[in-house]
Amino acid sequence: MKVSHLAVLGGLFAKSSLGAVVPRDVAADLHTSFIQNSCSTACTFLSAVLWGKVSLPDSTVYKAQQTSLWAVQSSESAPTCRLTPTSALDVSVALLILRTVQCQFAVRGAGHAPFVGANNIDGGVTIDLTSLDSVTLTKDKTELRVGGGAHWSQVYNYLEPYNLTVIGGRDSSVGVGGLTLGGGISFFSARYGLACDNVNNFQVVFADGSIRDVNQKTYPDLFQALKGGGNNFGIVTRFDLATYAQGDMWGGLVQYTEDKLETFVDALSNFGNRQAEDPDCAAIVSFIYYQAYGINIVNLNLEGAKPVVNPALLKNFTDVPSPMKSTMRVTTLSNITDEMVTGTPAGSREQFRTMTIKNSPSLILELVALFKTQTAPIKAVEGVFPVISFQVISTATISQFTKNGGNPLGITADDGALILISTSIRWANAADDAAIYAMADKFYAAAKATSTAQGLLHPYVYMNYADASQDVFTGYGAANKAKLLATAKKYDSFGVFRSLLPGGHKLK
Ligand SMILES: Cc1cc2nc3c(=O)[nH]c(=O)nc-3n(C[C@H](O)[C@H](O)[C@H](O)COP(=O)(O)OP(=O)(O)OC[C@H]3O[C@@H](n4cnc5c(N)ncnc54)[C@H](O)[C@@H]3O)c2cc1C
Repeated sequence: MKVSHLAVLGGLFAKSSLGAVVPRDVAADLHTSFIQNSCSTACTFLSAVLWGKVSLPDSTVYKAQQTSLWAVQSSESAPTCRLTPTSALDVSVALLILRTVQCQFAVRGAGHAPFVGANNIDGGVTIDLTSLDSVTLTKDKTELRVGGGAHWSQVYNYLEPYNLTVIGGRDSSVGVGGLTLGGGISFFSARYGLACDNVNNFQVVFADGSIRDVNQKTYPDLFQALKGGGNNFGIVTRFDLATYAQGDMWGGLVQYTEDKLETFVDALSNFGNRQAEDPDCAAIVSFIYYQAYGINIVNLNLEGAKPVVNPALLKNFTDVPSPMKSTMRVTTLSNITDEMVTGTPAGSREQFRTMTIKNSPSLILELVALFKTQTAPIKAVEGVFPVISFQVISTATISQFTKNGGNPLGITADDGALILISTSIRWANAADDAAIYAMADKFYAAAKATSTAQGLLHPYVYMNYADASQDVFTGYGAANKAKLLATAKKYDSFGVFRSLLPGGHKLK
């Protein structure tokens, strides 16, 4: 669908000398006020045009949205106003106003990206997509249409009665928007690929305010770019996702004492090389320091897409006796993804960071030892919860990266099985930010040096686990990055989504 907003808004707007469209009754005031305070002006316009959808700092809506962001750092940015659009047209109108007055803005999906600026903006306008959360199945049930601000629990709860699923997040509180635009690792990725590989169509509000369907037929270059391009190309107001049959599954978490680490690292590495034998299986191995008990533990997240206990391919994990804790069971996808939420509560300071290596159990063990050493000085930090996780990007998963027009992530089957490393650190007080960030800097410098020295560092930087300081797009490879940049310039020649929307991982 293409909507001409100049037509829709014709009665309300006039053309300013800036060449943009502004409301008639305030056009005269625009030039004097926007330089001083363009975002106050934007909020005034937005309030007039999108009545009831703009909230100011003293309102309960504003406060509730601010505190609903996953990481505390996100809540500390204070936008001049927050806009809660309820349609693609609202988003389009907002973009035209923000462009006209040159007010910087942020886009918030479900608000889980933990770094400053990703989903909120100091002094600007935050477009909060959470009310764009409709979920509809097509008549033939082959496609689910999901609003750009929905989170995965809304999707899974809706689909379960139909015995269907889509390829999405493993934690039900995470957003469809951010996860899918960054790639999106699912329990089912070895069979179907990443979430982005399973999008049939994106409904996108372009920089010029037009609302268009972007798919392999309409805009193949942009369609590919959106599968890992983040928020650099437009605001996605609807994701049309392929559906797949899914009933009960097996999964949960199992925890062991630290001495089992080597066993599970070997199991993960072996699983990484063999996942194609049973692409219904998934595994994550994490090493966690529990401050309350002063111990390190090994946490496993294991899943099988079928309701089969202990699938054969995961035997090297499930045969290990004496777990400290196990929640493994046959249950629903929504139940497993809800369980994930309990282990990742909102409301703390957080840092994510990531790197990718080739599959080597000895290197994984070295990196865990390094993480242990580097996190030792922060063990006493109030509320600290350092986690390093390892999961595979197997050749089974990679084989799906070419479907449906392909993705631009720069990973090919020639890379062999890869290990995606992510660290997630939680802590309580801003006073400790510098110590945490310095520790992470030191750890990654050493981890990269060690991996490079062994010829095992892979350039891929997974957007959804990356910190703001990381260069995601260079990790996609020079050719992919150049193509993405050319595509961004083609559809957004003024760089609205690269400069007026400064937060998130930016194409430069
Ligand atoms: C607890 C937890 C569990 C996680 N589990 C997984 C997992 O299983 N698999 C995985 O791959 N990743 C996972 N992640 C990482 C997650 O995918 C990213 O943090 C992702 O960015 C979150 O998306 P969001 O919409 O919730 O966040 P937001 O912070 O709202 O959005 C992230 C970025 O995407 C942009 N954006 C969001 N929606 C839109 C839209 N509709 N149009 C344009 N831009 C948009 C925002 O501007 C922002 O820059 C997890 C993260 C957390 C915190």
